[in-house]
Amino acid sequence: MTGKTDIQTVADYYGENVFNLKTMRNYLSDKAYKNLVAATREGGCIDASIADEVADAMKTWALSKGATHFTHWFQPLTGSTAEKHDSFIEPDLEGGVMLKFSGKELIKGEPDASSFPSGGLRATFEARGYTAWDPTSPAFIKEGENGATLCIPTAFYSYHGEALDKKTPLLRSVAALSKQVCRLAELFGIDSKNKRAYATLGPEQEYFLVDKDFYEARLDLLQTGRTLFGKTPAKHQQMDDHYFGAIKTRVMSFMAELDHELWIMGIPSKTRHNEVCPAQFEMAPVFEEQNLSVDHNMMTMEILKKVAERYDLVCLLHEKPFAGVNGSGKHNNWSVVGPDDKNWLTPGDNPHENAKFLTMICALMKAVDTYAPMLRAAVASAGNDHRLGANEAPPAILSIFLGDQLYDVIEQIEQGGAKSSKQTAPLELGVTSLPSLPRDVTDRNRTSPFAFTGNKFEFRAVGSNQSCAGANVVLNTIVADSLDEICTKLETEVKGGKDFNEVLQGVLKDIVKKHKKILFNGDNYTEAWHEEALKRGLPNLKNTPEALDAVKKNEEYIALFERHKVLSKVEFAARNEIYEEQYHAIIKIESDVALTMVKTEVIPVALEYQSTLAGTISDVADASGCKLPQTMELLKEVSSETEKALEYTKKLETAIEKEDSKEMISAMNALRRPIDKLEGLLPYEIWPLPSYAEMLFL
Ligand code: ADP
Ligand code: MG
Repeated sequence: MTGKTDIQTVADYYGENVFNLKTMRNYLSDKAYKNLVAATREGGCIDASIADEVADAMKTWALSKGATHFTHWFQPLTGSTAEKHDSFIEPDLEGGVMLKFSGKELIKGEPDASSFPSGGLRATFEARGYTAWDPTSPAFIKEGENGATLCIPTAFYSYHGEALDKKTPLLRSVAALSKQVCRLAELFGIDSKNKRAYATLGPEQEYFLVDKDFYEARLDLLQTGRTLFGKTPAKHQQMDDHYFGAIKTRVMSFMAELDHELWIMGIPSKTRHNEVCPAQFEMAPVFEEQNLSVDHNMMTMEILKKVAERYDLVCLLHEKPFAGVNGSGKHNNWSVVGPDDKNWLTPGDNPHENAKFLTMICALMKAVDTYAPMLRAAVASAGNDHRLGANEAPPAILSIFLGDQLYDVIEQIEQGGAKSSKQTAPLELGVTSLPSLPRDVTDRNRTSPFAFTGNKFEFRAVGSNQSCAGANVVLNTIVADSLDEICTKLETEVKGGKDFNEVLQGVLKDIVKKHKKILFNGDNYTEAWHEEALKRGLPNLKNTPEALDAVKKNEEYIALFERHKVLSKVEFAARNEIYEEQYHAIIKIESDVALTMVKTEVIPVALEYQSTLAGTISDVADASGCKLPQTMELLKEVSSETEKALEYTKKLETAIEKEDSKEMISAMNALRRPIDKLEGLLPYEIWPLPSYAEMLFL
């Protein structure tokens, strides 16, 4: 382990590799420091004249940490992170070098980025992409074995200014949300001048750990991140003995080092535990401002993989590495902080706050109900398709869980606003007909895709391997849109002379009436819910192609993103095109890998075993005249499964030739059955692949 000495506590080295405000104070003039604080904390602009000073300070600090290079760190639409390093050196024309880093280099980069997906936003003659410094996410040092690199979080865009990354629309969507929350704040008499609102995010990250030797012995894990074959072991997660169980020594060592590495990077890792499936685990950080939290989650995924390697483990972030057991998700805990610096999803103690809170709840109901397909599409991916709708994960049908008490409050609003029986004091805003709220307004419902959990909403459909950016871009934007409509109504009617509280009452009542169908407190995994959802007219977009088809040409969604200046029509189209391409590319890769494994690994041993059995049968018959009918049965079973496997291999080949993803998936599923049967029939010594039992339990 690096950086830690016996006498240091976490507080001593936390954020050591981050150019955070605390560090900046030691490197910057007062003026520059204040300007940066304003830009990062209050959403102000960076004064161009301080860029040189900040760059120089960053360089000095980075050099003291052993950095030789800097890079603009960004998040292209591949879904991962990207970096291209430049060293600080500049020849001094006397045979030596100077170490330089200018404000210009800090603010803007121009990586030759022609190989990143652009969805047609860039023609090859203008293939360059540009990166722009995001001062709201602090620069950090990535340490390698032989030197360190200064990483500067940046947005990535095209020559014409179109977003080519995940960060740009996220920042735009936070601005859109801020605008509407501040509008609502003003209506509630909260001063929002020169203030802003922002979203918070706490992403719980699930992952699997498998031994490196097993990983390397399986082409499917190596190339696709998941097992394409594998017989379900007798014991897996039935006993529920892994969840929150005592953590094994090797894993504990891994987790300790993981936390240490995360803390050095200023990532507030808080919770660690065993998950439901053997070999599955979770880490959760303390929530932060959304943009920073998204960056931190991207770094966390990278650090998870890096640290695992040191323990001869491989960290699998795929949403469904093993069939038949739990998959991995990312619970996206989302809330809003208003211009009053308060969490607006906290019910609060007084009616004034209750009214604000209930307005937010209604805005969310309206948003999720109106734009459910868009939210669904934001988490669509080939990997997540194995999880959403499967038994243990939230279904593909979106609904909101509010808990019984809050649900009751919502029903009261629908009935015209129940009087609070206990409120006797005069109410500040006279919101007389909004009910008072009980303190603990929720219990836990683990099956809901979108659950209110006390002071935040938990969107559980995000995949473990996905960036949280996409889901939050949609969440921020659709809530902004709801608030926009609510504010317009309130503003117009109040201006027209009506009483604010009466208008608000009416607005919330209308929303509840129209959107109550999105609320569901029961068990989302049951067949009965699927039927009920169908009756309610809630969409059930079962897989990625269905989800993308539902949104990509939808004028309503295009208008939504344009209205709030989050994505232009072409940016939206480009994204959907890229996600579609990625989906089909993944299915094709999986199909090719499945074919290779079956043809070159499984079939040869299956044939070998048949010939062994056949030899034994005829040898025994020759020697003793015994017919071995049961052995003959075994041989027939192995032959029959092998033939089936060969038959489905043909089907898969045809589907690949036709470039038909749907057919490829069905052929892969069909092929898996005989292969998994063969795993249960062939001798352990000759089976070419590590088994589920080995991978999950060793
Ligand atoms: P669990 O859902 O496993 O019971 P918790 O409720 O303790 O766990 O919290 C889960 C995550 O929610 C944590 O990352 C936590 O920091 C985050 N969280 C808590 N409050 C907020 C908030 N106001 N906004 C966003 N995330 C939050
Ligand atoms: Mg949770």
